Amino acid sequence: MIHPHHSALEVVIAIDIGGTTVKGAAVDTAGTVVARQTTATFDSGRDAYASVLTIAGELIEQATAAGFTTAGIGIASPGLVDPESGAVRFAANLGWDDFPLRSLLEAEFAVVVSVGHDARTAAVAERATRGAGASGTDQGASYDVAYDNALIVPIGTGVSSAVVSGGVLIEGATGAAGELGHMQVVPNGVLCTCGQRGCIEAYASGTTILQRYREHGGTVASSTRAIASALDTDPVAARVWADAVDALSVGLAGITAVLDPAVIVIGGGVSAAGDILIVPLREAIAARLGWRSTPRIEQSELGAVGGLIGAAIIGWADRVPDAGFARQTLRSLSSGPQGAADA
Ligand SMILES: [Zn+2]
Repeated sequence: MIHPHHSALEVVIAIDIGGTTVKGAAVDTAGTVVARQTTATFDSGRDAYASVLTIAGELIEQATAAGFTTAGIGIASPGLVDPESGAVRFAANLGWDDFPLRSLLEAEFAVVVSVGHDARTAAVAERATRGAGASGTDQGASYDVAYDNALIVPIGTGVSSAVVSGGVLIEGATGAAGELGHMQVVPNGVLCTCGQRGCIEAYASGTTILQRYREHGGTVASSTRAIASALDTDPVAARVWADAVDALSVGLAGITAVLDPAVIVIGGGVSAAGDILIVPLREAIAARLGWRSTPRIEQSELGAVGGLIGAAIIGWADRVPDAGFARQTLRSLSSGPQGAADA
């Protein structure tokens, strides 16, 4: 697919590393996706880095065949990410410990590589699309100031968050701000992948909701999405869903008490449940904050592709031409054979 109306035929390779899949897209300067790939993170013994290499290599090849030059690579990674060095200091779900992701990829492909934390990268995309106009028109729409004091919560294989306070995306002293998934909300609760007990992620990720459903004898639903749509008929589904909402509400009410966000945006694959998640979550948070008003609780428009859009933005660094870029990337990812609905 060639877009000859762009003077410079350049793309960046955007990659979002998840615990289940690695998603990638080649995105031009206007935000149009010219090639797209998704692969399992761990495919028949292959490690996560091998999957990243495969995706990047295939996308560069496809973009080159379509007449594009690759200007850079932007990557959203889970775990503790050092944006300065581009190293992933620790990512339990990927088995990475002091992993020099950026320098390895720069040596491999000889292009500039930017590495960001997945939730903060999704927050960059969330704010950029609001800047371009939530109505879908890029012209004349104004930025929603609520996103200057916001909590962005991607829920997929893991649970994470990005904190925006006073218009600043908070990194924390060690780059580990926003690790909502490992906030302990149930003393001596369920064992988490991090080694602690009672973490939010042990109850409320796409993976653990399904795992707990099976442990509690659920047999009908075979995916988190199916569990979400069986709450009225399947008591096991209703129970594990209520536990997930409860765990999230404890954490989000606590953060609200401390940081006073204007909006909490729920994203990631699990957010596709929509009001089945948002409505009870809003009620549970409000019930824990009787002494104050509750922030807006919203479903992300970006769903499972927030991290990928943010990866494209950091890949272009300061070269992204305008705020319409993020909207165009979203439109581009939402159309075509692999629509935005795939989590
Ligand atoms: Zn944990």
